[in-house]
Order: sequence, then structure tokens, then C-alpha cells
Amino acid sequence: MNYNVDKKGYYGDFGGAFIPEMLYPNVEELRQNYLSITSDPTFKREFDELLKVYVGRPTPLYFAKRLSEKYNTKIYLKREDLCHTGAHKVNNTIGQILLAKRLRKKRIIAETGAGQHGVATATVCALMGIECIIYMGELDIKRQAPNVARMKMLGAEVRAAQSGSKTLKDATNEAIRDWINNPVDTHYIIGSVVGPHPYPDMVARFQAVISEETKWQLEDVEGREYPDYVIACVGGGSNAAGLYYHYLNDERVNIIAVEAAGKGIESKESAATSALGKEGIIHGSKTLLMQTPDGQITEPYSISAGLDYPGVGPMHAHLFRSQRAEFISIPDQEAMDWGLILSQMEGIIPAIETAHAFAALDIRKFSSDEIVVFNCSGRGDKDLDTYIDYFKL
Ligand SMILES: *Cc1c(COP(=O)(O)O)cnc(C)c1O
Repeated sequence: MNYNVDKKGYYGDFGGAFIPEMLYPNVEELRQNYLSITSDPTFKREFDELLKVYVGRPTPLYFAKRLSEKYNTKIYLKREDLCHTGAHKVNNTIGQILLAKRLRKKRIIAETGAGQHGVATATVCALMGIECIIYMGELDIKRQAPNVARMKMLGAEVRAAQSGSKTLKDATNEAIRDWINNPVDTHYIIGSVVGPHPYPDMVARFQAVISEETKWQLEDVEGREYPDYVIACVGGGSNAAGLYYHYLNDERVNIIAVEAAGKGIESKESAATSALGKEGIIHGSKTLLMQTPDGQITEPYSISAGLDYPGVGPMHAHLFRSQRAEFISIPDQEAMDWGLILSQMEGIIPAIETAHAFAALDIRKFSSDEIVVFNCSGRGDKDLDTYIDYFKL
């Protein structure tokens, strides 16, 4: 079994590029060039250097002593929350902006839901002095005012998507429309391991720096470069893909993926795609997604905006279908509780997305000699208002 993308852009039954004909030249240009550009030594040098001096990599692999004692196992946190801008997303936007420059693009577009990917994109556009347009649902613009302000401050133009439910999928439609109209000078930065091939593979490769570092960091402290478990939350799946990447074909490593159950799997207000999803096409790729019996995409729900997505990337659909990874889902309430637990046991206030991953400790038992690595995908500053409301702080 192979867990990486194949030559045709598929992970098992999932992936591919299901796109309107008018997008074909854009996607094809990327497909033909992404591997040769990103494997070029000067690209690699520039990427590595920016990750080091701008993002702050390598991020620490932190041994969580108090958590480890309580759960009687060896728990490590990969500290992506310490990246510049507060989460893993910037690893990908740095990679894509360097790629866009080499393709001589003059203009960057992106879609954003909660605004995290919009901020990461606006950040790297400021860094490179490139025009930046962020599409965002009108409703999300109202809900995520601080991130809208950040994007504007970074010099990006935020355009409201007024159609449909005025949320992420409508913003995505607007971004795609823009790309069709500006095929030559524009690059579209997608924020997770979703979208038509080659995006899922390209984004996974940029995020793979997470497990590349984890390998030598574990070797340093434990004398072996592989853990027994890697655990990450899955929205679209990019932070998870980054942590899993170099362990995908290492059967000694167990993979756990944590989705958001929202108000419960049966509640109709959920984002647990593996439990609720069926095969279908979303954002140009064949994957698992939540849909009505006649194939309309259903509106997902999670208290964490970053996990509030109706599909998963095709790599994760394949990991689920092949049973290479174990998928679990965590309701809002337990995730919020874990936001407090991690804060008070380790002094780390996590993003609510990230807090979902840690709730795996309540579901799965690990033995005292096992090594468990969690991806600490982001910090909780952006979620402070939600924490305040929820806990009446
Ligand atoms: C966006 C986000 C996620 C979810 O996105 P993935 O592509 O699944 O990683 C998870 N954690 C944080 C902190 C995020 O900002």
C-alpha cells in the first residue's frame, strides 16, 4: 500500500483534478512545474532560510512532563503554535509564494474562512511585496473582525463573498472565478491539503517540514527517530499531513486523526467527515465529504472555525478508507475542556482546533514506554473571545 500521491494525482481512490475546463491551464502549469521548482537547490535554500529566520524554525519538540505523568506515557508536543503568525499555516504560504515568484506571478489570491489562512497569505505577500486579494464570506467578515483587521493592516484587500451562505465555500467560489479571469498573472494559494492535484501533494510537501524535524528531534532525545503514535486534528488536514508525512509508510508508527464532532455526530451540527461523509467532489478533488442524499454539500459545524469544513483532503480520505489511520471525533465541549487542561497543566493555551487533538488522551490508552507526539498546531490567542464566552472568564 502506498500512502503518497501517485503519478495521476490520486491517493488510492481519492484525489485527481475535477476542474472546469477554463481552469485547466492554471492547474496544469502548476502540475508541470511544482516538483522541478521545489526540488531545485536554490528554491530549497531560500525556503529553508525563510523558515529559519522568518518563521522561527525548527519549532521545539517539547516533552510535556506533567501530562506524561498524569497519563503514564511519554507525551511530546510539536510546537507549531510558536511559528510566526501563531500556527503551521505559514509553512505552506511561504512555500507557495516562492513558487509563485518563480512562475512570475504578480498577484496572489486566497480564500479564507476564519481568516487564519488569509492572515498567513497576507503576511507572506507583505514579505515579498506582492499584491494580495483575500476572498471571505460576508458572514465570516463580521464574525472574524480581528483577522480582517490584520489582513488589512498587512496590506491585503479583503473582498466579501455575498452569495449562498456567505461563508467559506462561497469565498472559494469567488476565488476560483477570479483565477479563471486572471489565468496568466495570478497564483491561487490554497490553505490546506485540499483542492485539485497538485495542491494536496504540494501543500503536504511544504508542511512535511514538521515530521522532518520531529525525526531528528526524537532521535536526539529518545535515540530513535520514530514515535509509537502521531496525533493531530484534521480540518482540511494540512497540519496532520505535515506530522504524518515522513511516517506514512513506517508501519511502526500508529496514526490518529482527530475530527470535530461539533454538537455530536448525530446532531446534524458536526464536522466529523470520516463518520458522516460519503464519496463526492469538492473544490476539485474526489474525497469524503458531508452531503445530502442527492449530493448537495451540507453546512458543517464546529466551535472551532479551522475544523469547520465539510470535507477532508484526499490523503486523509485514503488513510481512513485503508485503515492506515484511526479516526476519532471530539465534541465541542471536550475540546473546550482540553483548552483549559493544556493551559493549566503545561502553560500552553492552544487553539481550539489543537485542543481537539489532545482529547484523544481520554479515548485511547497508551502504555508507559510508548512515545506519543501531538501536533500543537496553533496558539489560542485568536480564540480568546470564544474561551471567554464559554468559560465566563
Ligand atoms: C487552520 C487550522 C487548523 C485546520 O487546518 P488543517 O489544514 O486541517 O491543519 C488546525 N489548527 C490550527 C491552529 C489552524 O489554524
